[in-house]
Amino acid sequence: MSQSPLIGISAHTLIKSQPIPRYAVQRTYVQAVQQAGGLPVLLPPTIDLATARTLLARLDGLLLSGGGDVAAARYGAPDNPLIRLVDHARDASELALVAAVLRSEKPLLAICRGIQVLNVALGGTLYADIPSQVPGALLHRPKKGQPRDSSVHTVNLVPGSRLATILTAEMVRVNSFHHQSAQQVGRSLVVTAAAPDGVIEGLECPDHSFCLGVQWHPESPIGNQEGMERLFQALVEAARATMS
Ligand code: MN
Repeated sequence: MSQSPLIGISAHTLIKSQPIPRYAVQRTYVQAVQQAGGLPVLLPPTIDLATARTLLARLDGLLLSGGGDVAAARYGAPDNPLIRLVDHARDASELALVAAVLRSEKPLLAICRGIQVLNVALGGTLYADIPSQVPGALLHRPKKGQPRDSSVHTVNLVPGSRLATILTAEMVRVNSFHHQSAQQVGRSLVVTAAAPDGVIEGLECPDHSFCLGVQWHPESPIGNQEGMERLFQALVEAARATMS
């Protein structure tokens, strides 16, 4: 019987847990990996490059979870007062994980903040705040009073991309809970999805066996067109294929 692939999930620092600091991952990521047949392994935001390489040698796949903003200095931009919830330890840790996973054959699924970290790791930049920097942008969060996981906008998928192939669609309706997005795309990444306002919603790295980022929250059971679990199934399948 084949063993379940070990899928590392990046955790964040729980700010409201003072006086005892804690690391945490939202349960929906763990559940999505489990439902796809993976064994979740929670990764604290304390990982340097050497540790990331050691971990990636033993994990079978990596999931970058959502969260606060990446510090502007990570992509060479001036600080912006609208940037919030920066976790410097997490930035360093996830950038190391991306560097390590891209040098391995292990698959990566990067969600929300994760797609932004992926882009920055490859030299790309971010819009620090979509509403103030992208003229005519749609709302990328629920309207006031609507639930967090509301269906917010559509996303057009690039035909032939891995993303479109996995989701077997050219357009999907998604939830949206972000105020940042990729701006200049990092080296060796291609855009595979965009909202109707042009905001980048999907990136992948065709040079790698499985490196996929999405700006929405496929792990949430709410607010998305059906079929998002296929992204986690594809991650676990790709991870299984790297197990000897
Ligand atoms: Mn969006």
